[in-house]
Amino acid sequence: MTSLPGRLVLIGHPVSHSLSPTFQNAALRHAGLPLTYEALDVPPGRLERAAAWLRTSNAAGNVTLPYKEAFLASCARLSPIAERVGAVNTFWCEDGALVGDNTDVGGFEEAIVRAFGSDRRWPRVALIGAGGAAAAVLAGAERWFGTEVRLWSRTAGRAESLARRFARICTTVPTVHDALEGADLVVNATPLGLAPDDALPVPIQDLPPRAAVYDLVVRRGDTAWVRAARGAGHPAADGLGMLVAQGALSFERWFGQAPDRDAMWSALRS
Ligand code: NAP
Repeated sequence: MTSLPGRLVLIGHPVSHSLSPTFQNAALRHAGLPLTYEALDVPPGRLERAAAWLRTSNAAGNVTLPYKEAFLASCARLSPIAERVGAVNTFWCEDGALVGDNTDVGGFEEAIVRAFGSDRRWPRVALIGAGGAAAAVLAGAERWFGTEVRLWSRTAGRAESLARRFARICTTVPTVHDALEGADLVVNATPLGLAPDDALPVPIQDLPPRAAVYDLVVRRGDTAWVRAARGAGHPAADGLGMLVAQGALSFERWFGQAPDRDAMWSALRS
């Protein structure tokens, strides 16, 4: 978009613990942009009313749980990647209408490179979970060369319908052990491990010996799964890298300029 939005907001429920305002406001200050990024709690049943307010406010921003899929219907236009994922995490207004995009995909890809290096290839990925975040992982993985994904989730029907949408690279398997067999990269796309939960999405002893571990869950001081995987010698990272990367890509969509990523990371460390 070209002109500054009237408001910059994060839509979700509840959104009080999100880290996004911290690093987005640091990026805005660094760029000298006269806006504040605000978290807006939208209670169940109020999304359409919130969308109307976003249009009249000429707002831009992000969408988080539980509205990423539902927000599609509020948008007059979608980017190809938002259509592919079936979810919107980034939006802005054009001519009074909402435009939806998805930067979780690019954020995931950048986070994998940041965590494990740009020269690694991922012939076989084990993906745990079948929600919107898993769809973003699949949309990223289908852009990689020669990647095959084995998907397992506790509700088989949901896993199967997601796998059908990404049938070129993805198959469902009956057990988590089948997903792990021969995996180079194991991805947690469930909320298991969110504070104060120390549950592990996959037992550490079941990980293939040299597998890298990527946990989409964000938790200060790393998730229990990431800590345990590192302790057992696996390269491992939590979802903070993806969160910052998707936020930086959103910033580029809103303002046509890249944010200062060091300022974003510094804000999270202080
Ligand atoms: P979602 O649409 O609600 O899907 C969650 C998935 O996890 C579903 O497949 C669900 O299975 C499964 N699940 C939920 N609770 C579980 C449990 N106790 N045991 C086993 N499986 C369970 O959520 P989402 O949007 O995909 O988000 C998933 C996670 O990714 C969240 O923690 C979110 O914060 C994180 N995330 C991080 C980033 C980032 O930037 N780092 C971006 C997006 C999402 P059922 O279908 O059986 O319920």
